[in-house]
Amino acid sequence: MVGTDIDAIAGHLATLGVRPSAVLLVHTSFREVRPVEEGPLGLIRALRAALGPAGTLVMPAMTDGESVFDPRSTPTHEMGITAELFWRQPDVLRSTHPGGSFAAIGPHAERICAPQPLAPPHGIDSPPGRLLELEGQVLLLGVTYSECTLLHVAESIADVPYSIAHPCVVEVDGAPERVMIPETDHCCRGFRQMEAWMRGRGLSRQGKIGNAKATLAAARDIVAVAVERLRQDPLVFLCPESAACDECDEARASVPGRSGAG
Ligand SMILES: [Zn+2]
Repeated sequence: MVGTDIDAIAGHLATLGVRPSAVLLVHTSFREVRPVEEGPLGLIRALRAALGPAGTLVMPAMTDGESVFDPRSTPTHEMGITAELFWRQPDVLRSTHPGGSFAAIGPHAERICAPQPLAPPHGIDSPPGRLLELEGQVLLLGVTYSECTLLHVAESIADVPYSIAHPCVVEVDGAPERVMIPETDHCCRGFRQMEAWMRGRGLSRQGKIGNAKATLAAARDIVAVAVERLRQDPLVFLCPESAACDECDEARASVPGRSGAG
């Protein structure tokens, strides 16, 4: 056997607090978790074993938006090997947003992957928005809150004043066409502040899965804490101007009445 065995990992997930029958959104870097018996597919098996047959496993399946999206063939972009293999597994559904798709398997997969508006890609009516509605859990496995897409749902609920449009190729009347999709985009490093906020209030659980640091929290707690902070300071997730972060400066410049700032 090479790596931690699948049953042991499933047991560690249960100890961490993954509930059988939960709806679980997983963001992971396999490089941090390995070695695992059977590799990334073994990790997927362990996650499914921890959730049981009544659980729903969800992973991001986002793409680069540079070609017409086909949920059956377009590879993911910078989502990691586990997410890239997950959507390709039998019976896994994939949502149809051309840039911001997610993949899911289990009783709530169809709801998670139902059609959604083009913008915002991660609003209330999107796969992570439905995770919130279904009172799901988020597992960050070897990654930080900077990978936590659910925080864009919180930005949408808090109606943050920044918005950046990115080009995305979609099919219009059978022909590829480039459209601009506005979203609450920035470098997302500011999302890492969530770790201390969540831990400080005892709302997240930490542990080790394989070799990776793991953080588990309820979707509604993540959104509640983020929205509370955003109401105090709508730009709290943007890097300070002194950080000279191009992406966050661009987001700050998009705020009405602040163009030219930064
Ligand atoms: Zn930044």
